[in-house]
Amino acid sequence: MVVEIISVGTELLMGNIVNTNAQHIAQKLAHMGLDAYYQTVVGDNPERLRAALDVAYTRGDCVITTGGLGPTKDDLTKEMLISYFGCTPVEDEEALRRLEERAKKRGVPLSESMRKQATVPSGAVVLQNDHGTAPGVIIEKDGRVCIMLPGPPKEMKPMFETACDVFLRKQSNKAFVSMNIKLYSMAEQGFPVGEAQVADRLGALVDGENPTVATYAKEDGCLVRVTAAAKTADEARTLLAPTLAAAKAAIGEEHIRYVEED
Ligand code: ATP
Repeated sequence: MVVEIISVGTELLMGNIVNTNAQHIAQKLAHMGLDAYYQTVVGDNPERLRAALDVAYTRGDCVITTGGLGPTKDDLTKEMLISYFGCTPVEDEEALRRLEERAKKRGVPLSESMRKQATVPSGAVVLQNDHGTAPGVIIEKDGRVCIMLPGPPKEMKPMFETACDVFLRKQSNKAFVSMNIKLYSMAEQGFPVGEAQVADRLGALVDGENPTVATYAKEDGCLVRVTAAAKTADEARTLLAPTLAAAKAAIGEEHIRYVEED
């Protein structure tokens, strides 16, 4: 599969911010053994985004976009792609529940613009956002795939890991092995450690490229996934072992409920 990255945002075009999202995704794709030959930056403009998509799909079969999923008027990526793929907009129940819960916690009603973020293309895989408001989406239609991710790197990076788990790794010729380290829930721990503290404890391990170490916030306790890629699954297991041991030691055995292969 050939993947192309389209970074959406006028701030990027104007040079106000650096495109660290494209750098992050490109590095990860390379380590997964997926081909990516072009990257595009396009402003918050529907016609130019459409033109960029047209060109991208002449060169590859999967586009990854970042940015433009938020609640404001210039956040047009999702609407644009719903129309591009001829999908029907539908409201995702879980995304809406999360938005309502957030609004309730803040003691404010859910505004129409915030609610808009729960709209997704019919038939798409919804990537829930554990670190922000806008969900991501994977659309697969007529041999073309589009993975839409939010702009803020702290939201984009964990969601990209989910996209790797549910879709991208399956497209690669490499063998992947993942080990899940499941922590006790915060309530069950004597000295509670949540996702942020776990990430702190893991330190530089989360920056590794192969194996990768990713943290996921779950209601019944944080999950840390260590994944290695190699020519064969046995080679991947061998490569993974030292990082898994280092991750377990960094987290602390007393916080770990179980470790199992995914
Ligand atoms: P939001 O809900 O915050 O509006 P969004 O998905 O609509 O999210 P944007 O509005 O496009 O994303 O961007 C929000 C912020 O994310 C930007 O101001 C910038 O700080 C950061 N950001 C966006 N794109 C990139 C990128 N390609 N590289 C690094 N940072 C980015």
